[in-house]
Amino acid sequence: MVILDGKKISNQIKDEIATEVTQMKERGEKVPHLAAVLVGNDGASLTYVGSKVRSCKRIGFESTLKHLPEDTTEEDLLSLVNDLNKDPEIDGYIVQLPLPKHIDEQKVLMAVHPDKDVDGFHPTNFGKMALDMETFISATPYGIMELLRRYEVDTEGKHAVIIGRSHIVGRPISILMSQKGKAANATVPLCHSRTKNIKELTLQADIVVSALGVPHFLKADMVKPGAVVIDVGITRVEDKSKEKGYYITGDVDFEKVKEKASYITPVPGGVGPMTIAMLLKNTLLARERHRGNA
Ligand code: NAP
Repeated sequence: MVILDGKKISNQIKDEIATEVTQMKERGEKVPHLAAVLVGNDGASLTYVGSKVRSCKRIGFESTLKHLPEDTTEEDLLSLVNDLNKDPEIDGYIVQLPLPKHIDEQKVLMAVHPDKDVDGFHPTNFGKMALDMETFISATPYGIMELLRRYEVDTEGKHAVIIGRSHIVGRPISILMSQKGKAANATVPLCHSRTKNIKELTLQADIVVSALGVPHFLKADMVKPGAVVIDVGITRVEDKSKEKGYYITGDVDFEKVKEKASYITPVPGGVGPMTIAMLLKNTLLARERHRGNA
């Protein structure tokens, strides 16, 4: 069994990007600049955004954090989005989700200019991804594909069962894995809460991608021997014995499933770090595109 070490691979990717940034500086070029918009003080969102900003620093990107109060109006947020769209200094930006309930998430994501949408959530970018065109692929599915590529996991003609159909993970990864190309060419059923007998499907799977957010959903008796198991889930489970008062777990019963799997991602240290690395890669792409248009 091989652990798909997302932390190691993400560090490799960050080192590769840092080398490019150094070369940009040597040529006297402007380095990529990523902005993050955070509304409110959700604990997990603060952690994610903090780690994105730290990663930018580490590889030599410029970064800007726009931290707005919880009671920010939709109008004010849309106005900030509009400013970021026009700001020539910003190559790409993200609006950290979830947004407070009084703000229409869809409306905000639609307002992000597709050329700066390094999260790849805008319909223009999602559509291009679905049509095999070069674009910003959302960071989590992009990270899974990159992890499979770098470990040279054979996906050609395999059954890849995806659990979860969200617009940011399950659905895009089902599209990417069924496309032509490396780490793709798979046959891909997409499961969700209405799927009947998921176990029957997962037992046929050469590759299982679990993206539900239900701790320990995928048990060893649901997995075929030798399967590749990708755990996207991140759930905070309350635990007073821990310093932070919680621990992080994935969707997979890791200890038991790893005995059957050929490759498996841990949580933490699997898909999570890859997501940040691919966001940085998208920002680099945004910078290159802006320079090309300049
Ligand atoms: P989401 O929008 O809540 O979607 C969850 C999906 O799982 C839905 O399609 C839902 O089906 C399905 N589902 C829920 N319970 C199910 C069940 N018992 N059986 C079958 N399907 C079930 O979640 P998400 O945003 O995709 O995130 C999923 C997980 O990944 C979360 O733990 C999240 O924290 C994590 N995540 C991790 C990263 C990372 O970087 N590692 C990035 C993003 C998300 P319906 O559509 O029928 O409701």
